[in-house]
Amino acid sequence: MKLTKQCSECGGREIYTTGTYRISPSNILLPRITNFTKQPRVEIYVCGNCGFHQMFIEQETLQKVKEKYKRYE
Ligand SMILES: [Zn+2]
Repeated sequence: MKLTKQCSECGGREIYTTGTYRISPSNILLPRITNFTKQPRVEIYVCGNCGFHQMFIEQETLQKVKEKYKRYE
């Protein structure tokens, strides 16, 4: 939804975003990644037609995910 600017559920193109913000506590969303110097930042995109939403993790946090988590293949 972020990259395509289109809802993957209904095809709608009326997309809203929260912008990036810090989540707290971070271990609810990303368990085992607890030694952040700062809380991770995320942004949410919401479809204005059906309400479907997706959360994206910022690049800095994404690197920690790659170090701590097993890749799903
Ligand atoms: Zn939708």
